[in-house]
Amino acid sequence: MATERLYQQDVYLREADLTVCELREYKGKMQVACGSTIFFPEGGGQLCDLGTLGGVPVTDVKEDKETGTVWHTVEDASGFAPGKTVRAVLDWQRRFDHMQMHCGEHVLSGRFFELFGVENHGFHMGEDYMTIDMAARDGSPVTDEMIAAAERAANEVIWQNVPVTTTWFDTAEEAKSMPVRKEIKFGEDISVVTVGSADAPYDCCACCGTHPSTTGQIGLVSVLKAENYKGMTRITIKAGRPALEESILRSKIASQLAQKHSCEVSTLLEREAANDAKNDLVRRELSELKSALAKAEEEKLKEALPAFEGSLAIFRYPLMSADDLQSMARKAEEIFTKPAALYSEKDKTVVLATPGTPAAGQLVKEYANMYGGKGGGSKTLARAIFTKKADAELFMDLLEKHLR
Ligand SMILES: [Zn+2]
Repeated sequence: MATERLYQQDVYLREADLTVCELREYKGKMQVACGSTIFFPEGGGQLCDLGTLGGVPVTDVKEDKETGTVWHTVEDASGFAPGKTVRAVLDWQRRFDHMQMHCGEHVLSGRFFELFGVENHGFHMGEDYMTIDMAARDGSPVTDEMIAAAERAANEVIWQNVPVTTTWFDTAEEAKSMPVRKEIKFGEDISVVTVGSADAPYDCCACCGTHPSTTGQIGLVSVLKAENYKGMTRITIKAGRPALEESILRSKIASQLAQKHSCEVSTLLEREAANDAKNDLVRRELSELKSALAKAEEEKLKEALPAFEGSLAIFRYPLMSADDLQSMARKAEEIFTKPAALYSEKDKTVVLATPGTPAAGQLVKEYANMYGGKGGGSKTLARAIFTKKADAELFMDLLEKHLR
């Protein structure tokens, strides 16, 4: 049996006494149908209402399209029986969020269409945000300027606090008398939502969702992001309370960043650009200094190695990283006529260079793990990484004895 939709007569009905008609188990869950309902079932891109029925949480509400029955999924159906009167209570914040969001989307889509001939080709509504996939009729791109202009114009329609009305038609043919923005594709029971007056509406389109009675109740509509999507422009938007929450969050983050950089929010981007330029300069200077240091250390190695007579030449570097040492060793490969350990103290890593015999990688594999080290490498170049400085020293000591 088709359920009477009380929200179609009064969208502000938050509570009502309903009479239970039927119970059923559906996909392992208990569902209740009543003669009428204040719960909006999922549909037209809008999520379903939640709340309680007879004091029991309602977890989902869906419509059986064939019979028109609205089924309320309940956590526990033991207290329900046909003929019993139960109190229905909506999660009003959720419902009003959806009303604000849905209506915000209408107003914004209407502005895009009227100002730029940009059409809404797809719409998705999440818990607190929506996306619209848009494209201009003539195929021209949707620019940032167009988005900003439509966003402003939509908020101006909100300030004007014009009425939002729903008109019902039995057939699509009858609904054609309305100045709809989008062609009506379904056949019967059509609801057309008009923003403003019917002769010069700010928006007019078929929609089965729930909307507030005036645009002022939307409060705010804001575009958060625009990106390319399958040759169209996908914008992410928020409206109503979710838009306000987003604005508060963004404002808080911007204020904290401005405070951190000792500037105003309005000059944050300039400050950021100045900081980037400063960081680039520091990075360049650091890179030059590192190259100069590596060059000087390479010269020292070239001088010291030929004169060295022990089994393993050990060099300790407090400032250079293992990466720096490895690249220096690679450049000066030909000077390692004897095994040498280049030790990066800050990375607790030994870079081992040999003429190939003995093989550097093999030596690391055989001896490093005795002291908790790990690593490996090629015949001529390998690295052994340790967690403690003492272990790295013991490893070099062991190697020196082994190579004697
Ligand atoms: Zn709608």
